[in-house]
Amino acid sequence: MTFESVLAQARAEKRTLLSEVEAKEVLREAGVPATATTLATTREQAQGQAEAMGYPVVLKVVSPGIAHKSDVGGVKLNLLNRDAVGAAFDEIMANARRAEPNASILGVSVQQMAKQGTEVIIGMTTDPQFGPVMMFGLGGIMVEVLKDVSFRLVPLSDRDAGQMIDEIKGRPVLSGVRGQPPADIDALKKAILQVSQFVENHPEVRELDLNPVFAYPDGAIAVDARIVVSEA
Ligand code: ADP
Ligand code: MG
Repeated sequence: MTFESVLAQARAEKRTLLSEVEAKEVLREAGVPATATTLATTREQAQGQAEAMGYPVVLKVVSPGIAHKSDVGGVKLNLLNRDAVGAAFDEIMANARRAEPNASILGVSVQQMAKQGTEVIIGMTTDPQFGPVMMFGLGGIMVEVLKDVSFRLVPLSDRDAGQMIDEIKGRPVLSGVRGQPPADIDALKKAILQVSQFVENHPEVRELDLNPVFAYPDGAIAVDARIVVSEA
């Protein structure tokens, strides 16, 4: 699936929000590391996909009406076998229907379970004056409560990407504190630049959130992705 075909599909359905599956696919195509993710519309399909992908896997609700998947019990982590995947499918569908009775629920995404890393956020918003702006921060409360984030206008230089990382107050966390391993700064820089490039190449992208990206001593990978495109 190319970005163009995903965009055409979304516009045909009068959607501006891409599904997590679509978002990760177009990002992976653009070289941004993200967990391999497929859409399953039935229990059996989810089990087949998990089997093909290899355990452990994660299942998440896929619905244009549900923005925060874990808030509705729509995320099940670390599923180790076929039975666990089947049970998770049933629970997610039931939880989502209960929480959002009017939302259309397309199914679940099946994805590789990534090993835990330091959580960071890479995002983009469109400013009415300045156009696309990249954002970087540490995951969780660092962004939500402390607003510890840095911004740069697209297009970004290599230097901009490095500065975005170095500017946040929580920067020492990425060097490794309290037994936490250090994060691969070059991999984060590369991911920021690849997202910036992707956004530059596709002006239809209005908003983008990789929340979280897991940073490792060696590499980094997005485990959640959200993309909003402009109306046709
Ligand atoms: P939400 O829509 O609530 O933001 P996420 O997709 O971000 O849902 O999942 C919630 C949390 O579950 C993430 O912050 C992350 O810690 C964990 N998680 C999600 N996907 C994966 C994955 N593929 N591998 C490992 N952990 C994951
Ligand atoms: Mg998320």
